[in-house]
Amino acid sequence: MIIELDELQTAIWIYDIDRYCIVWANQAALKLWNSPSIKELKQRDLKTGLSEAVKNSLLQYQQTFFDNQVHQENWVFSPKGKEVQAFCQFSGYRLADARMAMLVEATTSDMHYSGELFSATTIISSFSYTGDFISGNPPFIRDFGHQVSHLRELICDVGMLEDIYNHIEQAEHFENDVLMNTVKGKTWYRLFAVNSKFTSGDPTILLHHYNIHERKATEEVLRQQAWTDPLTGLLNRRGLTHSLTRDVQAGTPFTLLYIDLDGFKLVNDASGHSTGDTVLTEVANRLRHNSISDSVLCRFGGDEFVLVVYESLLHHNLVNLLDQLIESISMPFYDHQLNPISLSASIGLSRFPNDSTDIEHLILCADAAMYQAKKLGKKRWIEYQANMEKGLKRLSDLSQKLSLAIEKHELSLHYQPIIDMNTKKIVSFEALLRWYNPELGNISPEEIINVAETTGLIHDIENWVLNRALQELLLFKQVIGQHITMAVNISGLHMAEANLCSYIFSLLEKYELPPSDLIIELTESVLLTDIDTENSPINYMTRNGIKLSIDDFGTGYSSLAYLHEIPASVVKVDRAFLNKTENNTVTLECIKTLVTSLNMRSLIEGIETQHQSQLLQSLGFSLQQGYFHGRPQPLDYYLSSSFTQKYSQLAEASVSPNKMITKEPR
Ligand code: C2E
Ligand code: MG
Ligand code: MG
Repeated sequence: MIIELDELQTAIWIYDIDRYCIVWANQAALKLWNSPSIKELKQRDLKTGLSEAVKNSLLQYQQTFFDNQVHQENWVFSPKGKEVQAFCQFSGYRLADARMAMLVEATTSDMHYSGELFSATTIISSFSYTGDFISGNPPFIRDFGHQVSHLRELICDVGMLEDIYNHIEQAEHFENDVLMNTVKGKTWYRLFAVNSKFTSGDPTILLHHYNIHERKATEEVLRQQAWTDPLTGLLNRRGLTHSLTRDVQAGTPFTLLYIDLDGFKLVNDASGHSTGDTVLTEVANRLRHNSISDSVLCRFGGDEFVLVVYESLLHHNLVNLLDQLIESISMPFYDHQLNPISLSASIGLSRFPNDSTDIEHLILCADAAMYQAKKLGKKRWIEYQANMEKGLKRLSDLSQKLSLAIEKHELSLHYQPIIDMNTKKIVSFEALLRWYNPELGNISPEEIINVAETTGLIHDIENWVLNRALQELLLFKQVIGQHITMAVNISGLHMAEANLCSYIFSLLEKYELPPSDLIIELTESVLLTDIDTENSPINYMTRNGIKLSIDDFGTGYSSLAYLHEIPASVVKVDRAFLNKTENNTVTLECIKTLVTSLNMRSLIEGIETQHQSQLLQSLGFSLQQGYFHGRPQPLDYYLSSSFTQKYSQLAEASVSPNKMITKEPR
């Protein structure tokens, strides 16, 4: 058997652990030990130069050999002062006197051994129970230098050091990835620590570790990438969940701020994604700058951010923080040409653990509060209150169903007439969107538009409205038998879309309608963001003959000062002015005078009584719209012979068509 072993390429020897000498070796082992003969090798005193740490390790192995354990490690030997690295398998070997020796099988070509630990050098060191350095093998000295005096100098994380001590104290085996201070800087090792009881004197801590830095560094890069948003460098949704999971497990109370930008879609659509990205990066910087220390900031989605505040801030401090955040986002941003862009932010708040102990639900609560803040007029913050998330549920229900509404033929249009009181004739119709869903019933146009804007469906829906309204205008022209126009409401978000202009002109061409047959109704706040740009879609459309109406005039904040800059032909005064017409008479007269001086026509909406109609006519408001003149009705109503007969009689008689009042079908 010995002869057979001699012929093996693997170096094999038997080491007497107690006497520090080799008692047998094969030819390959002689080569590894750089020894001319077995006799010479047996005579070598291997105790000299052997560190305490290695001595202890071997003694520890000896104990484990009684249980038939086998160890595989990458060891460094120094035969005649020259280092040799070999992959070794250590197992027990009973000597003739029954003492336990160690059989070593070593191969220097370790390449075919896979596995990180097998290709990493075993670094061995020993420390006293209080952490004082005792000794280390040569690889240890190479990595940690000659100056090591205490274990605490090596372990970067104090918590990890404590953990090692605790394991040792309880005579347990410690094993973990540990970041250590080496002569080359911080390095990751797989570290094993055991309580060694085999030396005379005090027990020691025996460490074995293997360099795993490369793997850890790769893992760290991947983790960073997986947890951060590449645009802003903030945590992403995944990173936030990881961070919150830790807080929830630790029971650390926090307040979660869900921050959503108001009007960001408009920026992206109107100025392009590159400007959008610049703005988002700047938003992240401002939020970062205004957050208090010890908070976590995350880009949660497109234009949504989450800030987690840990300090149990006094109420007024939290209020200050919120106001500051909103204020900072309200300061102008600039695009690449340094044109100002204005935005604002709406914030919802939820608290852990008060509002929920579930992370997803907490975020939903803050989101629901944010949604509420938007509904109440944006640029504000709202704290979560019970059941707020029901609003969100409705939003999600509506958006799902709305996405199918066109193909399921659930949308329709009602038309409300606009009368010229001078001729008592219908001069225009306003197309008003209706949606009936079998499960949800009738949904108000305000809610439809809100959902459509939130979900991005607004383009499809309003394109559908434009197509249907212009198509049906052809029929109205036949019924009414005179020049008539169609007014269509367009959302600011849709207005910013690049393709809208060409779509509208393609429809006009398709139905062979002149551009002046179409009136686009826009609210004043939308108009104000667009009037500065010479080539804005609005300017392009009006230059090419499409008419523009300023809708709901007087409800926004812009009003008179900017009116002359808007290329509108009609100003639709909001029905809010009709509430106390008498009190508002002076205001209405002023508006009328101003509008006329700007070569525009004024129209008053929401006229419900004959009294209102007459009073307004006397103030010069000849264009009128309201239930008194006719409720919004579907096309069929106007096509019916009862309407056509009534209308032709009324027009002939030149009396107010108030008898046309009908109840709008639901
Ligand atoms: P709007 O553009 O100001 O339309 C006039 C609204 O006032 C209509 O409400 C109409 O039914 C209502 N109204 C008309 N006369 C009277 C009256 O005498 N008394 C009262 N109390 N109300 C009157 P509706 O149809 O519910 O539409 C509400 C809003 O929804 C519209 O206000 C418009 O802003 C929006 N909307 C409707 N369709 C569309 C659309 O296709 N696109 C967009 N962006 N918005 C739309
Ligand atoms: Mg309108
Ligand atoms: Mg209106």
